[in-house]
Formats: sequence, structure tokens, C-alpha cells
Amino acid sequence: MTDALAPTTATVPQERRIVTAVPGPRSVALHERRASVVARGVSSMLPVYIERAHGAILVDVDGNQFIDLGAGIGVTTIGHTDDAVIAAATVQLEHLTHSLFTITPYESYVQVAELLAAHTPGDFAKKTVLVNSGAEAVENGVKIARKYTGRNGVGVLDHAYHGRTNLTMAMNYKASPYNTGFGPFAGDVYRAPSSYPFHDGLNGADAAARTIAHLEKTVGATDLACLVVEPIQGEGGFMVPAEGYLPALQEWCTANGIVFIADEIQCGMARTGRYFASEHFGLVPDLMLSAKGIAGGLPLAGVTGRAEIMDAAQPGGLGGTFGGNPVSAAAAVAVFEQIESQGLLAEADRIESVLKPALLSLQKKYPIIGDVRGIGAMLAIELVTPGTHEPDAATVAAISAFAAQHGVLLLTAGTYGNVLRFLPSLAISDELLLDAIAVIDEAFAAR
Ligand SMILES: *Cc1c(COP(=O)(O)O)cnc(C)c1O
Repeated sequence: MTDALAPTTATVPQERRIVTAVPGPRSVALHERRASVVARGVSSMLPVYIERAHGAILVDVDGNQFIDLGAGIGVTTIGHTDDAVIAAATVQLEHLTHSLFTITPYESYVQVAELLAAHTPGDFAKKTVLVNSGAEAVENGVKIARKYTGRNGVGVLDHAYHGRTNLTMAMNYKASPYNTGFGPFAGDVYRAPSSYPFHDGLNGADAAARTIAHLEKTVGATDLACLVVEPIQGEGGFMVPAEGYLPALQEWCTANGIVFIADEIQCGMARTGRYFASEHFGLVPDLMLSAKGIAGGLPLAGVTGRAEIMDAAQPGGLGGTFGGNPVSAAAAVAVFEQIESQGLLAEADRIESVLKPALLSLQKKYPIIGDVRGIGAMLAIELVTPGTHEPDAATVAAISAFAAQHGVLLLTAGTYGNVLRFLPSLAISDELLLDAIAVIDEAFAAR
């Protein structure tokens, strides 16, 4: 297992290929080693050990090739080992890996801040702080909103997922496995009903009235520092809110001095055919949280927003040792450049135009598929007992397992564990998408 890897630029044929059992013998051996040294709390959905990847294909240590429909949960959005990202990160590695922006700064951090200011919604002065992870971006967004407003309350929605740190655990909807046993949790977090059209049947105005009434009753607008929403919820199951829901929430926030924070850690960065999903809903968040897809697989996250809110934090109040690391920042600049020069926003639309009709025709064939939803390269199907809204998590697990055995990495999601989510990289070809759909069709037929 210590063999030197061939040059990383070696091409990976963009095709599915299974040559051993899944997992294969080398993965099984690694998994045994892992079991004695890696904490049990860090679980792996599919214990195949990945050796390399390119575009939309993952290659494991046994030489199996998987069509990647998850992109590391929406991280390698512009494709695995994108040539421009590798080149930019490599040059940066040779020049400077760390100096600490809060000690002696460097240009790439400033470039990322300029790019985020240019590409997040809103025609006003914006500023950014860069951090290491999505959860850290959420923490900082809340911290800044509290400082700006002088208030404590944090509003969140049902089915939300915001991370695994103490404050973000308190903000998650689903306790198990994220929060169970890890308390006590941060206080002053207030959760309200969301818009989940497949389950609640409410139009946007009614759903928003319900959310607002709940928050007014349980905390009161004058005690809320911020409302944090995922415009399209990720871990919760890719719910696209009813039309008008999110704008009504933003309007209420603005009218009441509540900082409106969009957590676009999963749905942002070109995933839905726009730089940020907020654009689909006409939202102009006060603060935008980005992470996952921003740096082509390197760890980077940011809070970007109205200059006057961001500047509420005192000098020295924001930062962290690794935040905005030079190599991650250089990679992020390359990601923005690739999105622009390769016209990648249109690729998300292409993926939707291939995948959505394919999923809708599967729904016609298999009434267990209760709902098909999503935008761009962020689509999902929700499985239920046919004719009802009863979640069917067991079938979701079976379909995902069948797909893996046949070389398709298909992630699950959903508060009830009954959602299959499709968030491939924008580099995936129509051919690979249709090949993956054929496998998933077989999986439904074989159940
Ligand atoms: C993944 C995710 C987070 C947490 O990001 P980490 O980098 O894992 O800390 C927060 N919010 C949303 C919407 C996410 O999808």
C-alpha cells in the first residue's frame, strides 16, 4: 500500500469499471488497519479507499472506477483534479504555504475576497473573512451578526444542517447522528418550521407566515440577531422552498433589523447554474456563507456580506491560524476563473436537462419515487410507500448499495433518510449520467 503513485496528471478514463468485489481486497485490508486507529465516530458510507480521481471518476486502490454522483458532498464541483486548480495550487505550494494572513498577509486572500464580493448577490460594498470549514463560516456569520445587532438570538429552520461544532450542532435539526450525546449545546438558538412543499403542501406565503409566527412567538423579532437559511437545504433532502417563501423571510428580517444569512455551503458556487442559489429566489442575503465547492477540494470557507455588518467585528476579532491558507486561496481563484472561462454555469443547466427528465421517467416507472426535485446539478428523489408520504429509508439504502456494487457512487440524504441526492461535478458527461441512470434503473427493478 506504500507503492509510489504514478504522476497525478495520468489520465483517468471517464468510464465506470468494476474489476473486483466492492470493496476489493486492498480496500478491505486498509479498512482493517483503519479500524484499529481511526475513531469509530468517523464512519465511511462506502469503505472503498480512493487512490486517485479525475473529472467525474473515482479510482480505488483495487483499480475499480466509480461514477461519482456526490463530488465529496458537492466539493469537487468543477471536477476532480481540475488541471487549472492543480496548476495554481502547485505554483503556490512552491512559493508560500503559510505566513498567517493576520500576521503578514498575501495577495490570494484579497483576490478571493474580491471574487466573492463580485459574485455574491447585492450591489453594495462587501467584505469577507476566510476560514477553514463550513461550520466555522456559520460560527463566524453568527458571531458577526451578534456583534452588529447587539442581540443574541439565532433563528434556524426545520431540516437544517449547519455543521458539527458546538454552536452549529445546536443549529442542526436532526439529532442523530450529528448531536446525540454531545451536549450541552449553545443556547439562544430558535428553530422554526420551514417550507417542504412535498410534505406540507403549503404555498410560499403560508409557509413563511408559519415560520415568522413561530419565531415571533418563541423568541420575538427584537431579540433575533440573525436568521440562517439554506436556500436549498442540503443534508435535509434538497428541498426547494415554495415560491415566495424565502423572499418573505428576507423581507421580514429586513423590516425587523435581523441579519439574513444564507448558508450556501452546499448549494452555492455554481452548483445550481448560478454562482449562488439565492439568485434563483431573488434573495440578496446580508451575509453569504460559502465553503465546500469554493476551492476545488482544498479546505476553504468564507463569510461575505455587507461591509457595515462585516466591519462590526473589531480588529483581531476574526481570524484563525489556517484561515484563508495561501494554497487553498490560490485554488479558489482558479475555481472562479474556470467557472468563468469554461462557462461552467451552463454545465449545471445541461446536467439538469439530462438528469431531471431521466429521474421523472424513473418516477413514472417506479411509484415508490414520491418526489423529484432540485435545480441544476443539485437534484434528488424522495422514496415513499407508493401513494403516501411515508418515508422509505430501507429502499434508499438498498438502491445506494446496489449502485455502489455496480460502480456508481450515489449519496443519500434527508431528515428521514429516504432521499437519494445527485450532486455530480459539472465535469460529468451526458454519457456518464445516462450510464449511472441505467444502473439506478436496474437497482429499482432488482429490489
Ligand atoms: C457541509 C455543510 C456545512 C458544514 O460544513 P463543514 O465544512 O463540514 O464544516 C454547513 N452548512 C451546510 C449547508 C453544509 O452542507
